[in-house]
Amino acid sequence: ANVVCPRRRVRDAVAAGLDVTYGRRCVSVADCVITFEDGTTEGPFDVIIGADGVRSRVARNKPTYLGYVVALGIAPAEAVPTHLRRATWQCLDGVANRMYSMPFDGCTDASTDAADDIRETSDGDRVMWQFSWREADEGAARLLAKAGGVTIRETVQERCRDWASYVPHLVSETAPEDIVAYALVDIDQVRCVVDDRTVLIGDAAHAMSPFKGQGANQALVDGVELARRLYRVQSLRPVSSPPPRGALSVEEALLDFERECIMRVTPKLNMSRANAQLTHSISALAVADVPRAEAARAA
Ligand SMILES: Cc1cc2nc3c(=O)[nH]c(=O)nc-3n(C[C@H](O)[C@H](O)[C@H](O)COP(=O)(O)OP(=O)(O)OC[C@H]3O[C@@H](n4cnc5c(N)ncnc54)[C@H](O)[C@@H]3O)c2cc1C
Repeated sequence: ANVVCPRRRVRDAVAAGLDVTYGRRCVSVADCVITFEDGTTEGPFDVIIGADGVRSRVARNKPTYLGYVVALGIAPAEAVPTHLRRATWQCLDGVANRMYSMPFDGCTDASTDAADDIRETSDGDRVMWQFSWREADEGAARLLAKAGGVTIRETVQERCRDWASYVPHLVSETAPEDIVAYALVDIDQVRCVVDDRTVLIGDAAHAMSPFKGQGANQALVDGVELARRLYRVQSLRPVSSPPPRGALSVEEALLDFERECIMRVTPKLNMSRANAQLTHSISALAVADVPRAEAARAA
């Protein structure tokens, strides 16, 4: 089953249990010491966990361009017809372009969680849209990602000009400051262990295309799986606690986590890449009352 949850709620829930310092940019990690942009250092630490996303400074294994661009916008719900305001929907041209939209504040027809009531979380109903397309020219993709909302909006408008009128209308009703774009990347192979005391989780370890909706999900599971293994390292436990069952050294814990992560995430990474290809091709238009990928395979 799919559970829709606004990113903000997940972030707040995670941060509530942590002592977070904002506004310090890490530039490098070596010998368990972190160096920050302002020249200060911290450490040495027992373990460093790099969770610094797709442009990680901690990771050595860097992601590469996937061949797609995605533009994201947030618009007032009135920008779409009434029946689509609380719906998740997409439009595909079966060539290279895809529009996807859903309520921004997590309030969907499927949600039964009172906390998802949009009136509690924002001044008004909003929808989030993603317009993605195949773009072979990596330079053009990266240029657009830096171009700013006005140029991105014009580019998307041009691409969906002849589509059902509510699609270009949604784009034109979105303020440029609420539009961004990314050149999508993914990783060739999942890699978590950087050295015997430094490990990666989330996009830093396994950046993937968003077309399977798995990146954040797997990042959250990473946290749990890594914590389970670090809990078995005697030196990381409170002095008063009994020895763990199946004690591990830090190095063993990190390697065991990496093994688990590779097995769990590699299929998701591959499916996310396949889905990127599928949703921007003629196969996406295969008609059947089954999941899209299954319909495409059967066609
Ligand atoms: C368009 C789109 C749609 C998506 N949809 C979904 C979806 O439906 N479901 C899903 O599961 N996933 C989805 N994803 C993927 C998801 O957003 C990522 O996989 C997830 O955010 C990864 O979490 P993370 O914590 O590893 O990295 P991030 O969320 O990128 O967080 C990294 C953090 O590290 C900080 N940071 C970065 N560099 C440094 C530095 N040098 N020093 C200090 N701090 C630093 C950043 O400020 C940020 O706070 C989508 C992605 C995109 C682009």
